[in-house]
Order: sequence, then structure tokens, then C-alpha cells
Amino acid sequence: MPAIVVDGVSKKYLAGKSEVVALHPTTFSVEQGELFGCIGPDGAGKTTLIRIMTTLLLADEGSVTISGLDAVRDYAAIRQRIGYMPGKFSLYQDLSVEENLRFFATIFKTQVEENMHLIYDIYKQLEPFKKRPAGKLSGGMKQKLALCCAMVHKPEVLFLDEPTTGVDAVSRKEFWDMLQRLKQQGITIFVSTPYMDEASLCDRVALIQEGRILSVDTPKQIINQYPKRILAAKGTNMYALLKLLKQQTYVEMAYPFGDYHHVVIQPEDDKAAEQIRALGATEVMPCEPSIEDSFIMAMQQKTNSTS
Ligand code: ADP
Ligand code: MG
Repeated sequence: MPAIVVDGVSKKYLAGKSEVVALHPTTFSVEQGELFGCIGPDGAGKTTLIRIMTTLLLADEGSVTISGLDAVRDYAAIRQRIGYMPGKFSLYQDLSVEENLRFFATIFKTQVEENMHLIYDIYKQLEPFKKRPAGKLSGGMKQKLALCCAMVHKPEVLFLDEPTTGVDAVSRKEFWDMLQRLKQQGITIFVSTPYMDEASLCDRVALIQEGRILSVDTPKQIINQYPKRILAAKGTNMYALLKLLKQQTYVEMAYPFGDYHHVVIQPEDDKAAEQIRALGATEVMPCEPSIEDSFIMAMQQKTNSTS
């Protein structure tokens, strides 16, 4: 039995007199023990999806099951079995680290000590500050405390909504290490993020944009299925180069990528590199697609198919 089954789930919001489609009918499932990433920009529908899966929001259509339990009928049982770390800091700012943990343990009728082994790795970093009000912790420490609080009742499935947004690079890395360790303990993890470089840390990822899942696969497969070839090009005037690249018929797409422009060409086009040099590029080299390139391609294909 999969840990999560989302079947045809959709959601609209009423904003004044108009409707906003936050989620088009969406279907996917997450296996037990998987670390599953939901990657997409602001407004893509990640929080809406998580709130439906965590029984906090009703879908307009479709169904969700968590460990075989129905999100509408069995919501109370589901809440006992899942952990949820919302995007916005959700702890009691005036309560100390210890008090927050105890509070969440009490809600779930358990004791902090009971599942300390699950969170000890994380908690030991917080322990020196256990008397400090949560509101006075650093960003990275707040994330750790929020994760501990979401884990205190030993959930089977953990939902994390953008846990690394606004966290510095070192703390982000540490946070993902912690998720890997929780996964090793058999916990299913659903995590949303706007950072595409985090995709490679997941077993599978769903790329989501404007309320639609564009693809669900392992990061490796997503990259392997990239249908075109990419050249990385650099010039002395990057802006002028990009403008020129976009005008060439053999160029399918061109966009800035780090210090280079990525130029998408047909797989069999072996004249392009030379032609791009003729446009004034000083450096042109083949380039492996990344998840970000795949995402840009998927968005482009979607735009083409709906226009
Ligand atoms: P994400 O978490 O990926 O940023 P959300 O699920 O928060 O995306 O939002 C998806 C879409 O739904 C966005 O267009 C957002 O503006 C809209 N939306 C979210 N919550 C509400 C709400 N309570 N009322 C109206 N529109 C909303
Ligand atoms: Mg969100």
C-alpha cells in the first residue's frame, strides 16, 4: 500500500468575485519510505496540495488516502499518524524550546522522552538553548525545532512545506542530512521546495507549476529524458548575445544560466556551436542538462500545448 495516494484532486479559491484555480486535477502516489520532493515556484500550488493531504483543507474533487486512510472520512486517524511542518514558522514564540516540544507532545498524548531517539540527532543541537524562547532562535535553529515538534509523536508520514526557504546554505545542507536520516528510519517524507538544486536529494520529484504537475520521476530519469541538446555560451556582451541567440532559427530556447547562456538545440545539430561562435560568443561548450533545464523545458512544452 502506498503511503500517499492523491487521485484527481483539484482546488479553486474564491478571490473576491473571481475564482483562482490553485490545483488542476492532480494524481500521483508516494511509496512508503520514499523521500518525495514537490518542486515549484511561488504560487504553484504546493501549500494547497499539502494542506489537502494533511486534512486541513477540503479538495473540490478527487480523493486522498494516507496509509490507506481516507482524508475526509478518517481525518482524525490520519492526524495521529502524520507530522506537518508548515511553511510559516508555526511554533509558540514565547514558549521555550523545551516548552514547545512538550506542548506538541501533549497534543499527541505522548511524551517527549518516548520518541527522543528519533529526534535526538537534531535535538542535541538545540539542547544548549532549551530554555530560550523559540522566537529568539536563529532561522536554522527554528527550523530544527519545528522539525522536532513535527516528529515528536513518531509520524509515519512527514509533510514539510518549504522547510529550507530563507535558510542559509549551510543550514539547508544540514536540514537535508537530517531528512536523509529520518528516511533511513523508515519515515515517508513529502517535502516542498522552490529550490531546484534540492531535487537531486529526493528519491522522486514532482515538478509543479500553475497548479499542474508537469512530471513525476526520479531526478535521474527527468534528466535522462531531456529531449534536446544544450550548449553553454559566453560572450563579452552577454545581453546582446542572448538577444541574438533568440533570433536564430536553429535555437529552440536561450536563457541565462549562471555565468553562461544555455542554448537549446536539436539533438542532431552539429553546426550550432560554430554558428554561435560566429555570433560573437567567445566560449561555447556542450552542457549536461540539469533539473532546472528540464523544468524550463517542461514549462515551455506545456505553454505550447495549451496555446
Ligand atoms: P505555493 O505554496 O506553491 O506558493 P499556494 O498553494 O499557496 O502555492 O497557492 C496556489 C495559488 O492559489 C496561488 O495563485 C495563490 O495566490 C492562490 N491562493 C492560495 N491561497 C489562497 C486563498 N486562501 N485565497 C485565494 N487564493 C489563494
Ligand atoms: Mg506555499
